[in-house]
Amino acid sequence: MSILVVGSVAFDALKTPFGQVDRAIGGSATYFSVAASFFTPVELVAVVGDDFTAKDAAVFEGRPINTDGLQRVSGAKTFFWSGEYGYDLNVAKTRDTQLNVFAEFKPRLTPKQQQADVLFLANIDPELQMEVLKQTKRPRIVALDTMNYWITSKRDALERIFREVDLIVINEAEVRQFMNESNLVKAARAILALGPKTLVIKRGEYGVLMITGDSAFAVPAYPLENVFDPTGAGDTFAGGFLGFLASRREVTDKEFRRAIIFGSVLASFTVEKFSLDRLREISISDIQERYQAFRTLTHFEDFEI
Ligand code: AMP
Repeated sequence: MSILVVGSVAFDALKTPFGQVDRAIGGSATYFSVAASFFTPVELVAVVGDDFTAKDAAVFEGRPINTDGLQRVSGAKTFFWSGEYGYDLNVAKTRDTQLNVFAEFKPRLTPKQQQADVLFLANIDPELQMEVLKQTKRPRIVALDTMNYWITSKRDALERIFREVDLIVINEAEVRQFMNESNLVKAARAILALGPKTLVIKRGEYGVLMITGDSAFAVPAYPLENVFDPTGAGDTFAGGFLGFLASRREVTDKEFRRAIIFGSVLASFTVEKFSLDRLREISISDIQERYQAFRTLTHFEDFEI
C-alpha cells in the first residue's frame, strides 16, 4: 500500500549530556519517511527554505521516497527546532521553535497523492493536518502524531482532527496533558471515546503501549547501552510501524503487533547517534537481526501453577 506523510522537515539544534550539534537535519516527516522507506514507498509532503541544500536533501536519496511534494520557498528559512535533554532522556525541553516556511505553507496534493492508502499526519500544525486529510480520498488508515507545543497552542484544532483519524501515535506525557488526567489508562480511554480505534502510546525508554477498544499490547524499548540522542525516536517508531503495516496485504491484529516491534526496532537505531546518522547507515539485515533479538527479549513459556 502507498503511504503519504505530511510533517516537518527541519534543522535541529540539539544538546544532550553527551554532545551537541547546531544544525542537524531533523523534522517529523524526515525521520518518518526514512524509517518507513525500509518497507514501502513513501510520498513526502513538506516545505523547506532555500537554506536546505542538495547535500541536506541527500537524506532522502537512494530510497523509495518521492520528494516531488517537498516544496522549496526561496528567500525563506527552513523550520527550526532547538531541544535539550538532561540525563532523563525521556524528557525533551524545547528551547526554541521557529516555524519559518511552515507559517505560510498551504499543501496541495497531486491526484496521485490524494489516492494514498495510508496517510500519516506527522507532528505539525493540526490545521495543516486537517487541510491534507480533507484533500485525500478515503485512505484505508489515517494516523496522526502531535506534541505538547500544539496541545498548548491549538487544542481545539487538535481535538477536531483527533475525531477524524483511525490511529493516534502519541507520547505518554501528551496523553495525560491532552486529557488533563494523570491516570494513563483513563486518559487513553477518553481519547478513544473521541473516535480513533487505536492509540499507540510512546513511553520513551519504557517502550510502547497500544490500546484499542477491547485489547492492549505492551512492549519494552530495546535495552541499549548506547543511547546518545533520543530526538526523532517517536517519528522513527511511527515510520517503522506504519511502513511495515502498509507493506502487508492484510492489516490484522497479528500484523499490528509485528508492526509495533518493527517500529521499536527502527527507533532503537535512531537514538544511537545524532540526527538520522545511525538510520542512514543501517540495512534491512540489521533490522531483521534486531527484530529477532526483540523476540528473544520478550519470549516466555506458558506455565500453570
Ligand atoms: P520526536 O520524534 O518527538 O523526538 O521528534 C523530533 C522532531 O520533531 C525534531 O527533529 C523536530 O524538528 C521536530 N519538531 C519539534 N517541534 C515540532 C513542532 N512544533 N512541529 C513539528 N515538528 C516539530
